[in-house]
Amino acid sequence: MIDKSTLTKKQKVVIMGSGPAGLTAAIYTARANLEPLVFEGLEAGGQLTLTTDVENFPGFPEGIQGPALMNAMRQQAERFGATCLRERIDSVDFSERPFKVVSGDMTFEAETFIIASGASAKMLGIASEKLLLGRGVSTCATCDGFFYRDKEIIVVGGGDSAVEEGTFLTKFASKVNIIHRRDQLRASKIMQDRAFKNPKVDFIWNAEIEEILGDVESGVKGVVLRDTKTGETTRKDIDGIFIAIGHTPNTSIFEGKLDMDEVGYLITKEGSTETNVPGVFAAGDVRDNKYRQAITAAGSGCMAAIDAEKFLESQGE
Ligand code: NAP
Repeated sequence: MIDKSTLTKKQKVVIMGSGPAGLTAAIYTARANLEPLVFEGLEAGGQLTLTTDVENFPGFPEGIQGPALMNAMRQQAERFGATCLRERIDSVDFSERPFKVVSGDMTFEAETFIIASGASAKMLGIASEKLLLGRGVSTCATCDGFFYRDKEIIVVGGGDSAVEEGTFLTKFASKVNIIHRRDQLRASKIMQDRAFKNPKVDFIWNAEIEEILGDVESGVKGVVLRDTKTGETTRKDIDGIFIAIGHTPNTSIFEGKLDMDEVGYLITKEGSTETNVPGVFAAGDVRDNKYRQAITAAGSGCMAAIDAEKFLESQGE
């Protein structure tokens, strides 16, 4: 456990986020002797800690579990002198350098700041989903799949996440219904084929969840589905619901401070990770609404570290 009072308040590099982007930036800046301070946030390790087998990260021919990969990246960063704090950043002031970084009752000064805060799971936006989150409604198949042994569940979405999680959940559930609001999946062909071949996976097309039935004491009991073409509603008994409809970039504390697109993804300069504020860099899903892969996030974390190092050199620091 790190004694926070011993941390130096003046930092060369502060990194926000501890997914593949943040930790790769930490490895590179640590190896450049910049002793980065990493704010891991409340979801330390990022989205890969919510996944099981990672089969497409180079170097692991048999695949690796997401949490194990993230743990290894963290250890690698710490080995070279990065400090990882399981804290979130509450606010930043980029109006002058060094930047001010506030986390709880601590304030740090940062010569450079790397944003790798990733993106968070989107929700359906219906009241019953909030009420029943953790009581039958989940956004994390890896975390909660175990609770649905021999039960029938629903996965909402038509992208890679929904199809991958739906297939994964057949390890536990007796039946998985993937509910999609259209009649065509967005997921990659290989994922689709796996799901179509899986006898435990059923697809319900052109459907949306209008209401989740159940209560806090006994959890989810069913759903009211609405046909997106006809508007007709039907009731379906179900034990659990996994929501896999995409993510929102974690950039709210930068609103009005950094350039971002209409969704909230940070905008960086062409061919660089630098934002519109010199000395502030962005890496990973927080600036990438296209590739969103662990390996591309790690790659851009490396770029941000090199950009930060070059920036410090150019300032004579
Ligand atoms: P996504 O590709 O944005 O797909 C989101 C899905 O949810 C879409 O099918 C969308 O429907 C549906 N949706 C969105 N809002 C909805 C709502 N309010 N109600 C009902 N349905 C809603 O998100 P993702 O699946 O999380 O994937 C994100 C990125 O990560 C993608 O680039 C994906 O390839 C990548 N990924 C890769 C892997 C892998 O390679 N192992 C695994 C997971 C994710 P529409 O299709 O109608 O828009």
